[in-house]
Amino acid sequence: MPKPRREKQNHLIYADVVDSKSKAGVWMGERASFRDKQARILEALKDRTDWVNLEGAVMVISAEPAGLTVIAPNPTLPGVIVLSDGGSPAASARLQADAEDKVRAVMAELGSPKRKRRPDPMATPQLLWGKYFQYDRDGEAVLLDPITLESVLLDSGEVSDLAGVSPTATHLALAGLGFTQDGPADDRREALHHRLHTLGIDPTPRRISGLRVVLTDRCNMACTYCFVDTNTGKPDMTEQELAAGLEFLFEQNAGQEEVSIQWFGGEPTIRFDLMQYGDELADTLAARYGVERVRRTVVTNGARLTDEALDHFVQREYGVGISIDGPPGINSANRLLLGGQPADDRIRRNVRRLVEAKGLHVGCNLTPTASNIGRLAESVQWIIDDLGLKFIYVNTPIPTGGKWRVNGAELARELYEARLTALGKGGMLFSVLDRAFQALDTRRPMLFDHMQGDRSLNAALLPGDRVSVCDINFTEPSFLHTLDELRADPALLTSATKKVAPIPACGDCPALAICGGPSRNEQALIGGNTPDPQMCAFYTSTLAVAVWDNTGVQ
Ligand code: SF4
Ligand code: SF4
Repeated sequence: MPKPRREKQNHLIYADVVDSKSKAGVWMGERASFRDKQARILEALKDRTDWVNLEGAVMVISAEPAGLTVIAPNPTLPGVIVLSDGGSPAASARLQADAEDKVRAVMAELGSPKRKRRPDPMATPQLLWGKYFQYDRDGEAVLLDPITLESVLLDSGEVSDLAGVSPTATHLALAGLGFTQDGPADDRREALHHRLHTLGIDPTPRRISGLRVVLTDRCNMACTYCFVDTNTGKPDMTEQELAAGLEFLFEQNAGQEEVSIQWFGGEPTIRFDLMQYGDELADTLAARYGVERVRRTVVTNGARLTDEALDHFVQREYGVGISIDGPPGINSANRLLLGGQPADDRIRRNVRRLVEAKGLHVGCNLTPTASNIGRLAESVQWIIDDLGLKFIYVNTPIPTGGKWRVNGAELARELYEARLTALGKGGMLFSVLDRAFQALDTRRPMLFDHMQGDRSLNAALLPGDRVSVCDINFTEPSFLHTLDELRADPALLTSATKKVAPIPACGDCPALAICGGPSRNEQALIGGNTPDPQMCAFYTSTLAVAVWDNTGVQ
């Protein structure tokens, strides 16, 4: 059926066609001879900007997803700029990533030297006696049992001795520490299941103890990697839906010490009225259901903060997480206001107000991207020194457009350096690396990152009377349930629970007990069981870093 012609609001024809949210028009306010004037304006702009003639650039037109990509020579640096617009952050990110891949491939074919990577001190570990992993470095080695997470450091003499005919002194010493050559190498996937059972680690969630409350999908920013479909025009959460969700949360946690409520969006402060309403109601419900404490947090982009909201956060002792990826040049590579302008100045001002307010716990949520990997320690230093934020949470990457967009091994190394930088400045950096450290310290597998130690779950309350049992995916149908469905069938809480080591490759993986296989969300986002190689590189490299730090530096 023919579609009616679209009504065009202004003259940014392409931007209108793809519903681009980052278009901006600057109008002259006159129609007479405007073409001459346009040309003069552009000529004058050349004196004030670094520019290239578009004749020297390539404009790529894509149908799936619909959009345009401009690939242009960088006028000031030895590189190529890739700028994509697909009308939504997700589509733009896909276009940009595809174009980046092509540019890199062409550069490689033409023999451009690649960006120098630091040498990897953690070469792939070797399997020893069919059951342990041996990590070699500078003549020394660490042996790791991937199931029990016991590890031992060997000096260079012991490494040579181990290569001799058994039994050497090192073989005997290792046997005394439980590292034996005998016994068949078990199926490690089975062995992990057995270990989980022995330790009483049960992945079945018992209840929801925290709600990430998605008040609205409206947002004043348009970040390239946002996992939320923002500004769709769908209705915000209603007071009735919020009240029903909070009632469910407190009813599930009657008599418990604590529940947590995290205001989320879009940009949740756009519906500050709902936050106030929800906070009042939470107090009433806590008293009614005998819940001792309500932990309140908000995840905000920091680009808007009213005095009223700031006072409210202070009164309720909020934890405030501000999403920032690094200094302005890095942050604005992926995080711009809806109109396409950077928000860094106003974010910095608002962070200062938050930090100066007494009684608030303010932290930074940092997303690793192609822009800050390679400069993570520098970004962390800036966040601590310039913004005054001491707590930095590094989000674990998730696939965008079906695959990981960051180099997993490089990210693992960078996290370690950034962690040391943070510690050296009196700050704290939290990431998957801590999970690996904790697993090695306690000798307990750490596979179920979505669940608390008491087997309770953080879920997302969404507009439209729905709950997602995965709090970072609001659209996967198998994760979505109504409150009534969850009340009637608590087994639905397991809808996003990881199936441990779902593929044979996990059995050969040293990181089995800190990764445990791709999560259901990971599988949903890549569209299959096979994990993204960059995800595996991230977990195996993270483990290698942690093994050396945990065992080698004791
Ligand atoms: S500020 Fe948050 S919700 Fe808004 S576009 Fe960026 S990542 Fe998405
Ligand atoms: S890192 Fe990859 S291979 Fe290893 S356990 Fe995880 S998903 Fe399996």
